[in-house]
Amino acid sequence: MKRILVCEDEVSIREFVVINLRRSGYDVIEAGSGEEALERYDRADEKPDIALLDIMLPGMDGFAVCRGLRERSDSMGIIMLTARTQEMEKVGGLMMGADDYVTKPFSPSELVARVDALYRRVDAARQRYEVQYLEEIRQGDFVLNLRNRTLLRDGKPVELTQLEFQIIEYFFTNPGKPLSRTDILHRVWGEDYFGEEKIVDVNIRRLRMKIEVNPSSPEHIMTVWGLGYKWNA
Ligand code: CA
Repeated sequence: MKRILVCEDEVSIREFVVINLRRSGYDVIEAGSGEEALERYDRADEKPDIALLDIMLPGMDGFAVCRGLRERSDSMGIIMLTARTQEMEKVGGLMMGADDYVTKPFSPSELVARVDALYRRVDAARQRYEVQYLEEIRQGDFVLNLRNRTLLRDGKPVELTQLEFQIIEYFFTNPGKPLSRTDILHRVWGEDYFGEEKIVDVNIRRLRMKIEVNPSSPEHIMTVWGLGYKWNA
């Protein structure tokens, strides 16, 4: 069963979202506040695969919920619901560990398509984890363990989300090769992702903050102007 946590304080929007997700085969856990969302997550015997979080909530806001969920799970998929005027908030949410965002107002088909796409990625990553195929890729001071899905630098763990891990895996299996934003988008988000390529840049910025000594003058994740990025061990 596909499980999703929906956190939205506006009852009419929440009901509309929940009805459409249930119709598409999701088991939905509903919350009307951020505090309730975390409480319901903690109490759930079977944890949700995906969370859909409104940003503007009474009390704890969607960013804080996102951060709280990320502390509990690196592997769940998180989508933020944003108003059209909240351009910076989209980026803020992505920096907090969200995987995608949907702008209000949205059509039911768009929302379900975005949730489905993220669910497939989360599920594929989990299955790969379960298969436990390869072992390790070494790049300079870094060791990527594909079985445990961990990244070590000088023997110390670097905390990565599933998406960040997939980007690093793509880099490590193509060292020195320029990879376009489209390549990265297709490989990590899937060919059916129809959001903006900008999401690649946001994730790269976050990765640089995690692995570069000086994120504004990177030595490992290099920008290839007009194209994308390449990995330099
Ligand atoms: Ca709201």
